[in-house]
Amino acid sequence: MKLIFATHNQHKVEELKKLLPSNISILSLTDINCHEEIEETGTTLEENAKLKANFIKYKYGLDCFADDSGLEVDALGGSPGVYSARYAGDKKNNEDNIKKIWKELSNKESTKAQFRTVIASSFGSKTTIYEGKVIGNLIFEKRGNHGFGYDPIFIPEGYTKTFAELGDTVKNKISHRALATQKFLTELLTTLKL
Ligand code: IMP
Repeated sequence: MKLIFATHNQHKVEELKKLLPSNISILSLTDINCHEEIEETGTTLEENAKLKANFIKYKYGLDCFADDSGLEVDALGGSPGVYSARYAGDKKNNEDNIKKIWKELSNKESTKAQFRTVIASSFGSKTTIYEGKVIGNLIFEKRGNHGFGYDPIFIPEGYTKTFAELGDTVKNKISHRALATQKFLTELLTTLKL
């Protein structure tokens, strides 16, 4: 069985392949010769994930799934959320994004935040949403060298180290992306009776 993951991010595809039985192959957009960037014009993670999955479904007629993730900060009313990658501008610069978070949070009391991932699958005529989240707190210094994005300033609840200090082995067990992926794969494998 072939499934399309509506992403150009080969790292995400490889990560998922490791979790699947060998009779399911995952293809990226590049693998199906789709070289266009699907514009993420949604105002929620759900909208963007659906938009990407449905784009491929209608254009290529192939079963497909897509994801979208973001950091939601309580004291900022859930921002940057769907705009996490470009919070400080279209350059999508991590350093600038973190500095903006610090600035916006400087006069707030709460540092509570969560990472959230939404996966949308479009199989046959059915679209299904799966969600994963991890709650934690932000800090006003960068700690650790692993990961990407906001990892150096996010300490998940129950831990004393940031995601960037904890590294992939721990992060892949507890992260928003891992939890959403597990929900999606559990249903997929149950449906396919694998
Ligand atoms: P994407 O939808 O997975 O591409 O994530 C969008 C943006 O959210 C990223 O560019 C990061 O800024 C932020 N983000 C999502 N997941 C993570 C994570 O696991 N660690 C740190 N930042 C993340």
